[in-house]
Amino acid sequence: MAATKRRALGQHFLRDAGIARAIVDLVAPGPADLVLEIGPGEGALTAELARRAGRVVALEVDRALVSSLRTRFPGVEIVEADARTWDYGRLAAPAGGRTLVVGNLPYSVGTAILTALVRARGAISAMALMLQREVAERVAAPPGSRVYGSLSVLTQVYCDVRLALRVPAGAFRPPPKVESAVLHLVVLPQPRVPLRDERRFATVVRAAFAQRRKMLANALAAGLGVSVATARRSAEDAGIDPARRAETLSIHEFAALVDRL
Ligand code: SAM
Repeated sequence: MAATKRRALGQHFLRDAGIARAIVDLVAPGPADLVLEIGPGEGALTAELARRAGRVVALEVDRALVSSLRTRFPGVEIVEADARTWDYGRLAAPAGGRTLVVGNLPYSVGTAILTALVRARGAISAMALMLQREVAERVAAPPGSRVYGSLSVLTQVYCDVRLALRVPAGAFRPPPKVESAVLHLVVLPQPRVPLRDERRFATVVRAAFAQRRKMLANALAAGLGVSVATARRSAEDAGIDPARRAETLSIHEFAALVDRL
């Protein structure tokens, strides 16, 4: 395959069976569980999943890989699909088991796939996802961290998130130019804080971080089209100093702020 296509699809294949096992161990699939694999590639994780899970469905966008995977893993349901737009709602929950997601995500669309999976969280129990290290660190970052942002808040409000493994470039062929890390995400039965309007919550969080160097009230005014006075009063009503920056606010503080805006 042309190197440009390989690069566009983020095709860096895992060559280390020990790391593949460690990734799958994070969600520990058993015979009652359904695993959805994202981007099986040449099957480094698929082999381990097929051995351990009751049922494996794998989404792969590259037609040539789909056909070789079907030959190699007749027991795995290989679906030719784009994981950014696939309808996750069609996954029927296994009786008495969990629905798990595992994948070594392509770097260029890792955030888009993670966002689609968080949106589909109602159908999922837990996930083990490899991403570019910087992206994984942003998702798992706590308030106050330099890389805490809307991706952190909008993932952590629905999931417990832990950066579980760092994976060196040498574990892949061809080796990528960036480092990788694996996130372990456990979907919460309810959002971490009660949200009256989830869309509004996401809009406010994104607006607050759109100008992260600005004071909160100014960032909200610019992002939401309200006056600075209104934004300041809402923050004060929520017990938040409007001169703070978005990166210092906890998820609970964001929820309180949204309630008052
Ligand atoms: N899981 C394999 C491994 O660990 O060796 C391959 C991982 S490779 C980083 C990413 C895989 O995702 C590639 O096989 C690529 O073709 C596939 N892929 C890229 N974009 C995709 C998309 N939008 N939806 C589904 N799969 C995609």
